[in-house]
Amino acid sequence: MSVSTMTSLPAAPAPAPLDEAADLAARLLAALGFDLTSSELAATPGRMVRALKEMTTPPTFTATDFETTAEPGQLVLVRDIRFVSMCEHHVLPFTGIAHIGYVPRKRILGLSKVARVVHHCARRLQVQERLTGQIADWMVEHLDPAGVAVLLSAEHTCMTLRGVGATGSRTTTSSLRGVLLDDPAARAEFMSLAVSAP
Ligand SMILES: [Zn+2]
Repeated sequence: MSVSTMTSLPAAPAPAPLDEAADLAARLLAALGFDLTSSELAATPGRMVRALKEMTTPPTFTATDFETTAEPGQLVLVRDIRFVSMCEHHVLPFTGIAHIGYVPRKRILGLSKVARVVHHCARRLQVQERLTGQIADWMVEHLDPAGVAVLLSAEHTCMTLRGVGATGSRTTTSSLRGVLLDDPAARAEFMSLAVSAP
């Protein structure tokens, strides 16, 4: 068993007093023209700051791993992991699903921990492209597998709810490492199972 240490990820922001952030949120809302003296909005800055803090604070977890029981070359695939992250350009959420596949060498990860890796990497200010690569790098660093494949599909509310208003559009990104990058047959197996398996 090993404890998660995110050497490839930036450290979480230093804890700052949320009352100072709430004061600044109140000024922001006032500058946008909202009347903070109304009773309806009085507690909004504090709620806004706590929500932002929660959505950008990566949950820590213990990455339980085991001696592999997989056959040599066996693909382990965890599909349809729902996640929410925050676009670092607009500080608006993007939400989607992740499919994580890997070919173990000596270690396998507890299956529920695969989802925890996704949430750990997602709960911060992010861009989808970097998030995809960080999940793959975490798997490589902690399990030293023969290959890793990460496929994310997400809706970015900064694009679907504002701006171009591209309602329903999704963005897909992949990061491949090792045999799942280099071996076309292994890559094809991952892609077909990730996209079409029941
Ligand atoms: Zn954005």
